[in-house]
Amino acid sequence: MKIALIAHDKKKNEMIDFAVKYRDVLNEHELYATGTTGTLVMGETGLNITRMKSGPLGGDQQIGSMLADGKLDLIVFLRDPLTAQPHEPDISALLRLCDVYCVPLATNIATAAIIMNALKNGDFVKEKRS
Ligand code: PGA
Repeated sequence: MKIALIAHDKKKNEMIDFAVKYRDVLNEHELYATGTTGTLVMGETGLNITRMKSGPLGGDQQIGSMLADGKLDLIVFLRDPLTAQPHEPDISALLRLCDVYCVPLATNIATAAIIMNALKNGDFVKEKRS
């Protein structure tokens, strides 16, 4: 599976903890991330991650483009709901595309954990778009 990881600045530590905890699961998949998130997670876990540009510099749009091309199966996007982001339009566009293409999207650690456990247990079933 192709998985993209994105975390806003105040969620980066949470993303690192998540990636450390689920390192073995993530390691079985092809990983992508926005620039800073990818650099931090790679540094802390040694996971191999293809990094896009930083989110505010177009990274979210690059992930969205992959998604539209059918090149991503899952997005873990730990959003900061309490801080305004300069690239809010890019974020909204990415979330929207997840729904357009029926790609699972975890925007908080609780959902991300459920999905990781489903992946680990072989219970992850991809829904088809209707
Ligand atoms: P970053 O981008 O990983 O480069 O910080 C994330 C974002 O803010 O969308």
